[in-house]
Amino acid sequence: MEDCLIKSKPTISPKKVVIVDSQIAPLLTGYRKVDGGYEYWSKLENRMIFERDIERVVDKGGKLSLSNKNISNFSQISQWYTDLELSTITSLIIPNNKLRSFEGIEAFPNLEELDISFNLFDNPDLLQKTELASIDVVILKGNPFEQKISSEKIILSKNFVINSPPPCAECKCNRSPAMVENYGVLCKNCHASKKLKEAVEGISLYPQPSFIEQLFKSLGKLLEALGIKGTLIAIVIIYFLYVTKCG
Ligand SMILES: [Zn+2]
Repeated sequence: MEDCLIKSKPTISPKKVVIVDSQIAPLLTGYRKVDGGYEYWSKLENRMIFERDIERVVDKGGKLSLSNKNISNFSQISQWYTDLELSTITSLIIPNNKLRSFEGIEAFPNLEELDISFNLFDNPDLLQKTELASIDVVILKGNPFEQKISSEKIILSKNFVINSPPPCAECKCNRSPAMVENYGVLCKNCHASKKLKEAVEGISLYPQPSFIEQLFKSLGKLLEALGIKGTLIAIVIIYFLYVTKCG
């Protein structure tokens, strides 16, 4: 048998983020941009406050692609990495290799996608392996057991893919029948971020964002102008006004 062709440590795709400016600091007076965020002087706390920039993830990374490497065992991949590194791998794309067993797949605890298309898997019973159940998409096409699955009419779990459903309309990633059923035209991740975005927009629609900004600005300026003593006096006055009006 030919040797595995991985001769040096393969690179796991890195996470990519873009820096989005902090939302609150610019609304206060006297802020300045510093490395990694904003700084502003708080009269209230009598110190400089550092507010970190917000990172927005544009690519979550964690992808490892190794095709045509004569891989016949998952340990030929996992041996290059520490447990911590293995835990960052979410997508393992290894088509056109010589795998026929899932032995050693437990070394990759956080897989969301596994592409083992065009390998040598021939026994459909192997698909019962518990580690496979937690992976969102397992691409099986082009393996010898594909024939058995269709001739013996074996019903596959909905995270297994032989005939690929249309890719995600947003990120173009591979999807499983389960995703088509649960998320329409999206994948699990895009569906989750869409829901999150909707929730955030729902909050900021009422009251109007400009009103909130104005409120923060005025409040910030007021507190700065008053200082600690002034703020305490103001609170006391407001309290007495409240008591006399309600009492
Ligand atoms: Zn997507």
